[in-house]
Amino acid sequence: MGVDYAELHDPNAEYTMRDLSAETMNVTRERGGGRDVEITDVQTTMVDGNFPWTLVRIYTDAGIVGTGEAYWGAGAPELIERMTPFLRGENPLDVDRLTEHLTQKMSGEGSIGGVTVTAVSGIEVALHDLAGKILDLPAYQLMGGKYRDEVRVYCDCHTEEEADPIACAEEAERVVEELGYDALKFDLDVPSGHEKDRANRHLREPEIDHKVSIVEAVTDAVGSRADVAFDCHWSFSGGSAKRLAKALEPYDVWWLEDPVPPENHDVQREVTQSTTTPIAAGENVYRKHGQRRLIENQAVDIIAPDMPKVGGMRETAKIADKADMYYMPVAMHNVSSPVATVASAHVGAAIPNALAVEYHSYELGWWADLVEEPVIRDGYIEIPEEPGLGVTLDLDAVAAHMVEGEELFDEE
Ligand code: MG
Repeated sequence: MGVDYAELHDPNAEYTMRDLSAETMNVTRERGGGRDVEITDVQTTMVDGNFPWTLVRIYTDAGIVGTGEAYWGAGAPELIERMTPFLRGENPLDVDRLTEHLTQKMSGEGSIGGVTVTAVSGIEVALHDLAGKILDLPAYQLMGGKYRDEVRVYCDCHTEEEADPIACAEEAERVVEELGYDALKFDLDVPSGHEKDRANRHLREPEIDHKVSIVEAVTDAVGSRADVAFDCHWSFSGGSAKRLAKALEPYDVWWLEDPVPPENHDVQREVTQSTTTPIAAGENVYRKHGQRRLIENQAVDIIAPDMPKVGGMRETAKIADKADMYYMPVAMHNVSSPVATVASAHVGAAIPNALAVEYHSYELGWWADLVEEPVIRDGYIEIPEEPGLGVTLDLDAVAAHMVEGEELFDEE
């Protein structure tokens, strides 16, 4: 903080690297017609949700403001501040060129992975909100139109007694009956009491038996009323993951998520090909390039990108398109505020292979208060028809829940 990035890295300086700015590409404002709009500023405000949500706002000389959100991640606001000089004066409708421009300009910060991609994602979502408002179209329309009017939401469930099969089953019952979801997810990397060494990734037989008892209790409890996925958070060896997936085959789980670590796609494929239990992964891989081998090698049954982390709405749609060539569904990982959740739903409306979008904040009473419109109703998101993302931030609610020391961005 306190660094003048514009001075440190002058956006008008001569670069020898590939430059995709409007000036270099000869994309002139005069040729814009109705596109005659320029970005004037970008601001962020971080909200203290159950994750630190980085809300992004892009301002224009037309007085139209776009709102987006980056996946939580330390450093995203600083990186967005660092990118702002590369966006000033640009036309916000050139979404693909601008995201690629940022990726090129931020190469020194490691722009093909990690929090730099997350920061670009937040800007990209705000560009879609902005473009939709300028063109008077809902964001899904910018991505080719609709396959569905509403997108299914799955509820990530927690209980304080996460290792107790009965407590998990009771929570599943509550979420289905009281909250109205027909799709759930539970953590399965919970301690069984039988572990001897959790570092070696090996599952002993009583550990597998304990996991099976959770899956059996939850799937028995909800029966045909809900689909249930289970998440392992990259915990196990390939061999243990295969044994676990095999043991779960009689329970017809929706999917088993991240049973092995995210780096080695050969192991991922081995596990996936060994079982009829559907295997999902992808939330810890960046950009379409990072997801490519998971899809091409059919190393997963279901691809699970996190939209405001993987590169944004168009990047997620491109990943979905690639997955669709392998007849592979997309389950969007999501731990965001209503802003990026709705943005994920717009993507889900526009791609054929959308399975569901995650909701990870049911324990947070004020999640829905951050925007003026209702978002999730009875376990589904009805896609807004208003321009852009179709949600309006409640700035009082944002101010009430800002991370300490944050400043509220300008209204317009
Ligand atoms: Mg997960």
